[in-house]
Amino acid sequence: MLDAGFIANNVDAVKANCKNRGVSEVPVERVVAFEAERKKLSQKRGETAAKKNAISAQFPHAKTPEAKQALKDQAAAIDKEVGAIDDELKIIEGDLLLNLYQIPNMTHPDAPVGGEAANKVVSQFGEPRKFDFKAKDHVDICDALDLADFEAGTTVAGQKFYFLKNEAALLEVALVQYAMQTAVKAGYTPVITPDLARVTVLEGIGFMPRDPNPETRQVYTVADTDLCLVGTAEITLGGMHMGKVFDESELPKRYVGLSHCFRTEAGAAGRDTRGLYRVHQFTKVEMFAFCTPENSDAIHQEIRELEEKIFTGLGLAFHVIDTATGDLGGPAYRKYDLEAWMPGRGDGGAYGEVTSTSNCTDFQSRRLNIRYKGKGFKGTRFVHTLNGTAVACTRALVAILENYQQADGSVVIPEVLRPWVGKDVIAPRK
Ligand code: AMP
Repeated sequence: MLDAGFIANNVDAVKANCKNRGVSEVPVERVVAFEAERKKLSQKRGETAAKKNAISAQFPHAKTPEAKQALKDQAAAIDKEVGAIDDELKIIEGDLLLNLYQIPNMTHPDAPVGGEAANKVVSQFGEPRKFDFKAKDHVDICDALDLADFEAGTTVAGQKFYFLKNEAALLEVALVQYAMQTAVKAGYTPVITPDLARVTVLEGIGFMPRDPNPETRQVYTVADTDLCLVGTAEITLGGMHMGKVFDESELPKRYVGLSHCFRTEAGAAGRDTRGLYRVHQFTKVEMFAFCTPENSDAIHQEIRELEEKIFTGLGLAFHVIDTATGDLGGPAYRKYDLEAWMPGRGDGGAYGEVTSTSNCTDFQSRRLNIRYKGKGFKGTRFVHTLNGTAVACTRALVAILENYQQADGSVVIPEVLRPWVGKDVIAPRK
């Protein structure tokens, strides 16, 4: 979330930013009003508490038991007053927070302004493959080579669940290994994260697990607990250092985490209904960094370059999108998506998103209270947080199966994955 003081001092800029992001009805004025009220109350609390200090200072000089009792009574009255102010403050701070959550992060000045149509292709890697035979989509390839069981997935867990089988199961493990190894070589610490997290952690990252409307709620919650199934390891990796104060010398901290991801895909009804492209559960390797504000732009580029390296290594054609303001989502200050060419997508092939990397500046760390101290300044500052997909397994599988298919129905395994799959080609089964 943004700092309430920052919003109060930059009302026009915050409103213009919300407009650029296509977010209407943001409670900027309410935040300003609640923040003014909060400031007034905390000043009053300070002054009232100071009166108590003055009384305590008189106590050693009180000569008689009556004088001492009178001071004690005055102190008790002040305590009561402070208690009442604290109760009021708690309510105001709660209201302030609820309104702050609705205001998105500020935006990088170079991000393209506009809705989805303003998304800008900033680089192209490889060219879409041309086929001299009729290319299949990944669902037909999976059926022909016995690589997935969508029917069993539906029986066991419902629509948009699946079983990966045979080489597809091995390819998922291979993708995890390949992405993890690439990030580890670049200095990222490997971790396996929990697949569940507390509501407070999700809220800190910028999700709305308590969205009262099940039609728009993106997250599965576990009944009778304060836990949710994570939609991404961004949640658990960000939550890992909740409440921590780093020393500047410890930063940047880079992690690469493996988790399952669970998404209700509310609002995506009727979109990408076939196969593995948009599912309720998938495996993802996620990169995450905590750093100083001075470093976050550079680390964002670093994560983007790692994503480019991973997908170049897989031999896939893809391009990089500089995401427009209207498509950023609340926490991101800037976001790059990689979209890989998927020959079976749409009518005759299309690019489909395979990774996404965001610089969230101090939007998440303020909520999660993750700070650092350093030599050049007093007190503490909020760190910047960044996240990026190393590999989202099912999307990568779609791209691999569709791009590496051969006229005889076989699929060649990308060279970098062969050590973990144990073969070069998925041949049609006899
Ligand atoms: P996000 O955390 O939403 O930026 O997603 C990260 C990556 O996960 C995306 O770039 C996709 O490759 C993949 N992804 C997102 N949603 C789904 C889904 N429902 N099914 C499969 N893969 C997904």
